[in-house]
Amino acid sequence: MKEDQWFMQLAIEEAKKAEAAGEVPIGAVIVKDNEVIASGFNLRETSQLASSHAEFIAIERANEHVGSWRLEDCSLYVTLEPCPMCAGAILQSRIPRVVYGAKDPKAGCAGSLYQLLNDDRFNHKAEVVPGLMEETCGEMLSQFFRKLRAKKKKNPSTNN
Ligand SMILES: [Zn+2]
Repeated sequence: MKEDQWFMQLAIEEAKKAEAAGEVPIGAVIVKDNEVIASGFNLRETSQLASSHAEFIAIERANEHVGSWRLEDCSLYVTLEPCPMCAGAILQSRIPRVVYGAKDPKAGCAGSLYQLLNDDRFNHKAEVVPGLMEETCGEMLSQFFRKLRAKKKKNPSTNN
């Protein structure tokens, strides 16, 4: 779908905001009735909160926006495959459709390591569209880590 690419592009813009803040570039938007109602980007280093993942922040903002924990008519777009925590939040908020960019072989729970979003044993399932604009989303991440490694090599004392 054309709209999917449009909204993923907006999630990529969010990821760029994360990168500008020195964070790993991951971004998310939540769409209802073809309109973005919430967005978020990774802020883990800034907030020092383990829950500050892009899609987790976006879900909390969308909850606030609609005044409900249920996001039944919404779609979530995120540049990186959701981790177990975020997949859990997707199930808990009843989001019916998730579109993601790059796969995460180390934490992905929307197909890579587990498929939490499409398991009959849970009381909710989401449609998953994997790998949309995968290259752009993945390249953003690999470039970020390449730069980080180069910086560390140059100045090993700033090890964290
Ligand atoms: Zn997450």
